[in-house]
Amino acid sequence: MRKDDCIFCKIVERKIPSAKVYEDDDVLAFLDISQTTEGHTLVVPKEHYDNFLSTPKEVMHKVMDVAQRIGQAEIMVLGAKGINILSNVNKEAGQSVFHFHVHVIPRYDRKGGFTLEMKENPKAKDLSLPALADEIKKAL
Ligand code: AMP
Ligand code: ZN
Repeated sequence: MRKDDCIFCKIVERKIPSAKVYEDDDVLAFLDISQTTEGHTLVVPKEHYDNFLSTPKEVMHKVMDVAQRIGQAEIMVLGAKGINILSNVNKEAGQSVFHFHVHVIPRYDRKGGFTLEMKENPKAKDLSLPALADEIKKAL
């Protein structure tokens, strides 16, 4: 199902132009308009799902497969030295387009516009990691 008010559904339906990198029956990849770093690509399922967590497993696997291939290609032809693979889920995590997508962000020696910093939580030492792990485990 497509969603009328979804910008990525419109790209899938070619109602909005995009710089396509890959397409098959289920998956589309196109350049992110922001080009955080050169080659920054988005991989999306053609069907509309709101985010990574609500996408059926088989569809998510197809998207991740394409993301891996694009990462490999960007290392090969763009001279990228590394890749960040990222999918934001919900606005609290920075999601702004609510159609599942994976960012493939090539990284070069030179600085691009992308930063990702995982700081140590000052409360980390007060947390019980086994209890926290058990809580997550219970829900799996
Ligand atoms: P997120 O913030 O993780 O939901 O990512 C959404 C991404 O979609 C942003 O990086 C935008 O730059 C990108 N974006 C929004 N509109 C377009 C568009 N028309 N074509 C390509 N990329 C887009
Ligand atoms: Zn959509």
